[in-house]
Amino acid sequence: MSRIAYVNGRYVRHADAGVHIDDRGYQFADGVYEVCGIRGGKLMDEELHLARLQRSLAELRIASPMPLSALRQVLREVVRRNRVENGLVYFQVTRGVAPRDHPFPAGPVKPSLVITAKRLNMARIQQSAEKGVAVVTMPDLRWARRDIKSIALLPNILAKQAAREAGAYEAWLVDAEGYVTEGSSTNAWIVDKFGRLVTRSTGPEILSGITRTVLLETAKREGIEIVERPFTPDEAKSAREAFISASSAVIIPVVRIDDTAIGNGAPGSITLRLREAYAKVGVLS
Ligand code: PLP
Repeated sequence: MSRIAYVNGRYVRHADAGVHIDDRGYQFADGVYEVCGIRGGKLMDEELHLARLQRSLAELRIASPMPLSALRQVLREVVRRNRVENGLVYFQVTRGVAPRDHPFPAGPVKPSLVITAKRLNMARIQQSAEKGVAVVTMPDLRWARRDIKSIALLPNILAKQAAREAGAYEAWLVDAEGYVTEGSSTNAWIVDKFGRLVTRSTGPEILSGITRTVLLETAKREGIEIVERPFTPDEAKSAREAFISASSAVIIPVVRIDDTAIGNGAPGSITLRLREAYAKVGVLS
C-alpha cells in the first residue's frame, strides 16, 4: 500500500507529493505545523492541537487554509487512507506561494496546507519507556518566540543531532540564565526530592506542549503536587526522577543527564504512574 499525502486540496501519492519552489515555507520557513498522535485510529487531543495551530497562525498573521470543520475531515481522511492505527498525523500551513521577497506578499495569497500520516513503531517506544533514555544539556540557541510552533527548526535539529552524536536520545536546552527551557522536540520534567512534579511554566520561552497540558491535568487528578517553575541542569541531576513529553511517545523516562544517573538509574515510579494514567485519558476525541 502506498502512502497518501494531502497537498493543497488533493490526495496524492506520498512519493509524488510536492509544493512550489516559491512556497514561503520552502524559501523562508514561513509557516507553522502540528503533530497529533493517533491511537487506535483516533486523533489524540485533537481539539487542543487545532487550537494551538490557530494560535500559531494568528501570531504570524497567516490565514487559516480552511474552516476547522473541513480540516478535521481532511485529517481523518489522511489517517484513514494511510490505514494508520498507531502513529502520527503531521499538518503544516505556510503563508503560501509568492515571488521570493522578505515582506509578506502584497496581494492575497492562499496559504499552503500539507498533511501526512505515518505509523509508529509502538514496540520500540515501549522499549524506550521501559528502559529510559539519556539526555545531554546544551545552550538554547533558538529565537525568542518558542511558543509559536514554527517550522523553522534549525537550532532544534542541530541540538538533536548533537545529542545523538553524544549517544543520547534528546537535548535539554539551557537558557542564558542557566535554566532548562525544554527538549529539542519535547517538554522537560523532573520530580524533585519532595516528590513534586516540576516543569517550566508556559510563556515565550517554551512550546506549550499539548502532552504537557494533558499531563498536568492527569497529575492533578492523580493527586500529585505540581510546581511550574524553571529548574537548572544541576537540580535535574539530583532529582528523584526526570522525563520528557511529546505527542509522539507521550512520556519517556530520562535515566541519565550528561554523565549523571538519575535516581537509581531506572525509570521513576511517578513517571511510570503518569504514563499509565495518561494512556487511559489521552485519547480525547
Ligand atoms: N517542545 C518542542 C520544542 C517540541 O517541538 C514539541 C513537540 O514537537 C514539544 C515541546 C512537545 O509538544 P507536544 O506535547 O504538543 O507534542
